[in-house]
Amino acid sequence: MSDCLFCKIAAGEIPAAIVHQDEAVVAFKDINAQAPLHVLIIPRRHIATLNDLSPDDDGLVGSMLRTAAALAQQHGYHERGYRTVFNTNREAGQTVFHIHLHLLAGRWLTWPPG
Ligand code: AMP
Ligand code: ZN
Repeated sequence: MSDCLFCKIAAGEIPAAIVHQDEAVVAFKDINAQAPLHVLIIPRRHIATLNDLSPDDDGLVGSMLRTAAALAQQHGYHERGYRTVFNTNREAGQTVFHIHLHLLAGRWLTWPPG
């Protein structure tokens, strides 16, 4: 998608603080961090929302989650705790329509969320 912010970050056309990348996913620091560690994990391929996933994407979503767990471990939060969130569509607060897994850690995270 030529006008998608996260496609441009994945392609290296817009700078981001990238913390991991491989052939399928890219992870970078959220520009408006809500916790000491706040990373977004995205697929390189454009997928607008979770509603657009197909069974063929199961491995890709698994890679996103395993990347989140690996980053949490690298940063020393795997035992303390961390949160992983996908926001989908308007009422959940999705603002960028290229799926992204939020990884948040480093402070007490309240439940239920706002
Ligand atoms: P969501 O509200 O779930 O769609 O999350 C979108 C996230 O993208 C927000 O937490 C924003 O702070 C973050 N964001 C927006 N633009 C950028 C950017 N250029 N680089 C890094 N994070 C961004
Ligand atoms: Zn995109």
